[in-house]
Amino acid sequence: MLTRKGGKGIIKNRMKIGIMGGTFDPIHIGHLVAAEEARAVFGLDKVIFVPNYQPPHKPGVPITDPEHRYAMVLLSIYTNPYFEVSRIEIERGGPSYAIDTVREFKKLYPEAEVYFITGADAIAEILSWKEGKEILQLCKFIAVTRPGYDIERVKEKLRPLDDKVEFLKITEINISSTEIRKRVREGKPIKYLVLDTVENYIYKHGLYSGGK
Ligand code: NAP
Repeated sequence: MLTRKGGKGIIKNRMKIGIMGGTFDPIHIGHLVAAEEARAVFGLDKVIFVPNYQPPHKPGVPITDPEHRYAMVLLSIYTNPYFEVSRIEIERGGPSYAIDTVREFKKLYPEAEVYFITGADAIAEILSWKEGKEILQLCKFIAVTRPGYDIERVKEKLRPLDDKVEFLKITEINISSTEIRKRVREGKPIKYLVLDTVENYIYKHGLYSGGK
């Protein structure tokens, strides 16, 4: 975005990027709505989805191969000109610490203001994240909540970080990746909860039917 200031020529406004971090096992319409609302509300120039390789707080919990999760993100976002997907955590391997990811994005976009977007449940534990205090100095957080979510509990917990965490209550879409996996396992429909492309991908590759 360009603006003219004081007749002294053109200066560049600071770019704002959103990092949409998650396991995305699988990505669903709740994630997409959250990213789009965050973009609109916070005036983000783009939102980069970053599927993690290994969620750092869930060692030993079985998750779907990162290449499948990455493919489903790609199939969901390609029609939105403001959305991108990054392989940064997949290529890095090992536990996907948000601090390492934010540092990499700060190198790629040194002038940009960075917002880390993810679920409020995850952000509620931020002080226990690797270098939790440092990451709060590097970027702002957008905590996405669902209908029925006890936002006050998390707000209370994060009170000292008031200026670092913004809450975004998304449209009434009460859906989670856990619920989608369960529905597939039970043979229930997932149409309209995920995009058609993702629904087809899940059935084609037989994901989530084996007891996860
Ligand atoms: P999670 O425990 O699977 O998710 C927590 C809650 O947030 C779930 O209800 C989840 O819903 C929701 N959620 C997750 N990602 C979301 C998103 N992008 N937008 C809206 N809701 C979202 O958490 P996770 O997905 O493994 O981790 C979230 C992010 O935090 C990841 O980027 C992860 O790397 C980061 N994290 C970092 C550290 C660390 O650096 N030490 C520790 C914990 C988490 P769904 O199940 O429907 O997605």
